[in-house]
Amino acid sequence: MKLSHRLETLTPGGSDGWEVFYRARQMKTAGEDVIELTIGEHDIRTDPIILDAMNDAALGGHTGYAAVPGIADLRQKVADRVTKNTGVPTGPENVVITPGGQAALFATHMGILDSGDKALFIDPFYATYPGTIRGVGGIPVPVPAHAENGFQPAAADIAAQAKDAKFLLINTPNNPTGVVYTKETLQGIADVCCEHDLWLISDEVYDTQIWEGEHLSPRALPNMAERTLVVGSMSKSHAMTGSRVGWIVGPVEMIDAIINLSTHTTYGVPGYIQDAALFALNQGDALEEKVAAPFRRRLALAKDIIAQQNVVQLVPAHGAMYLMLDIRATGMSGLDFANTLLDTHKIAVMPGESFGAAAAGHIRVAMTVADEEFNKALTTLIEFA
Ligand code: PLP
Repeated sequence: MKLSHRLETLTPGGSDGWEVFYRARQMKTAGEDVIELTIGEHDIRTDPIILDAMNDAALGGHTGYAAVPGIADLRQKVADRVTKNTGVPTGPENVVITPGGQAALFATHMGILDSGDKALFIDPFYATYPGTIRGVGGIPVPVPAHAENGFQPAAADIAAQAKDAKFLLINTPNNPTGVVYTKETLQGIADVCCEHDLWLISDEVYDTQIWEGEHLSPRALPNMAERTLVVGSMSKSHAMTGSRVGWIVGPVEMIDAIINLSTHTTYGVPGYIQDAALFALNQGDALEEKVAAPFRRRLALAKDIIAQQNVVQLVPAHGAMYLMLDIRATGMSGLDFANTLLDTHKIAVMPGESFGAAAAGHIRVAMTVADEEFNKALTTLIEFA
């Protein structure tokens, strides 16, 4: 039996850059003591107070089909949060609840692209981006953001690829670079989107993890609310990766169309998960800061260790749970570095090349193990370099 072209070409390179991660997992399964600094998953679990709320909701009977667009109170809460954080008046009709940010990305792509349409995304990129575009029949076109420019994308580079494209997908705070886009960068992006009539998909799943500067949502820029779809998630902000709950914020017409898509795909998100997400958001900033605190602490540790030498350079880390390290001075590629580090010291990091050509000669270090272990692993990594 034959697979569809869409699925056959979803990840044309096979594992799409996750070889080191899979190898580390195999070594671990075989009983080896590997320190994993690979995927974006907290070392803490979901806060028990959120789990209690989930349990109460489930035992209270919220286990049937939930409203497909999302329960009214959660849509309202997300809308209020967006209004408060961005100043853009946003109502529940602008919000659809999805099973996590990844499902939100897929739905936005389905909402915009027809088969064969061109879609732009910034390189370095979150690993699923090109596959998600291919998954809806689109043609992914990377636009490099250069290391020399602090990985801030340049409007001219985007404009050069914009002809016939349908959307531009950006991510700030950024995975893998830890860079937060400046107001100038975002204004440049907004100008290109308006001039070339592009939708902007703004992946803001790390919006609560800001270490320096501030997070700006491009939806708040003039004339952008009508062409921007913001992707949000409870995964990173509340350590709820396994609960699968996120959202899309955008113009009503598109949100209604995506709700119709949800009816034909996910049929919504379990009611008790949504109740737990509502409870978590109602705890306000304090809980978000508690979840972000370990990464803020480890970044400070990392800065101290890295400051003691000048072979490895830290890309200024403004947000998100990752360090992007420039290891070009070692003469190794990111892939060679990651493979050799795993073989010799049993420390797993992601090669920059896994996130696109623009991140070659870099490695991404997830700050996702306890402080002491993180300190030890990073010290060893630097000595290895
Ligand atoms: N977007 C970015 C940039 C990510 O790093 C991730 C997960 O790592 C996601 C989206 C998807 O997250 P989730 O589907 O858990 O909300």
